[in-house]
Amino acid sequence: MSENLEYCTIVFDSLENGTLIIDENCIVWAWNKWLEINTGISSESIIGKSLELFYPEINYRGFQRKIRTTLRLSTPTFYDASLSNRFITIPRNKISTSLLTTMQLQVTISPYIAEMQRVMVSIHDISDLHELKMTLQQKMAEIVHLNTILTKDRKRIEILSITDPLTKLYNRQKLNDVLEMMLLRRHWNEENSFGMIITDVDYFKKVNDTYGHQVGDKVLIAVANILSQTIRTGDILARWGGEEFVVLVSDVDKEKICFVAEKLRTAIEQMNIPDMGTITASFGVSLFVEGDTDETLMYRSDLALYRAKKNGRNRVEFS
Ligand code: GH3
Ligand code: MG
Ligand code: MG
Repeated sequence: MSENLEYCTIVFDSLENGTLIIDENCIVWAWNKWLEINTGISSESIIGKSLELFYPEINYRGFQRKIRTTLRLSTPTFYDASLSNRFITIPRNKISTSLLTTMQLQVTISPYIAEMQRVMVSIHDISDLHELKMTLQQKMAEIVHLNTILTKDRKRIEILSITDPLTKLYNRQKLNDVLEMMLLRRHWNEENSFGMIITDVDYFKKVNDTYGHQVGDKVLIAVANILSQTIRTGDILARWGGEEFVVLVSDVDKEKICFVAEKLRTAIEQMNIPDMGTITASFGVSLFVEGDTDETLMYRSDLALYRAKKNGRNRVEFS
């Protein structure tokens, strides 16, 4: 062996990747140390023989086409060694928890001796990179999943923050927000007339005292349900607190809003509550007038409610 050739062999065998020389008929002409170690096939046993004898699973038509292209163009070409288009199977000797038992390879075919139709095939183990990619994809999927949960939770919290837990109606906070918006809208457009109905269950303390707090709760739920079934869509209903409810009614005059309150009153009166019987409620009604704030509007409705109680309950009063 000449000194030059010996030098080449040392370099060839020191490469930290698999390198083989092969011709267009897939006869192996060189097989470096890395390949010997990682495949368990010695260079003596494979040189001069067809690669197909050792690796029948390769798509040889595609591989040979690549070799011919490399030789014709005299330029390195990349060979896709993904699972669908396998190259030689090399087991991973790494102790790892990975599911990858064989190496993911990156294969490049370079022209070697064109006149002898020989090429050099370089094989790089890219399993670690592939694993990182898979982990990253998995983490991304987890992030997307967590994000969905977060969005759902945020929505749930948003709903909870405006909902009365017992009756599932809007709570006082939400009613205040809507009222503020209606007052603003009324400032922009004078035709946005609206009014407020406050209702308070009559002698509710007696319901609790006679039938217990749990039945009292059921009564409040029943009242909430009948009120929401009776109002028009677009009207805003909220539990103001205790046994008091508020309805904001749009596009009404005095006659219309009193009619709505009367309808609600009748609906409550006609309700039959299991384990308890019937109840009644009193109603205070007011209409927005120029210069009203939330407080003045509320004050007039409360005043009307007080009058309804004083005048015998189970009735509607306007102020
Ligand atoms: P009036 O006809 O004058 O309105 O008499 P009332 O008994 O309805 O009025 P009062 O304000 O004396 O009593 C209201 C009662 O409502 C007292 C309170 O214990 C009860 N209450 C408030 N919130 C709840 C609740 O969430 N559940 C139950 N079961 N009772 C409640
Ligand atoms: Mg009350
Ligand atoms: Mg009451």
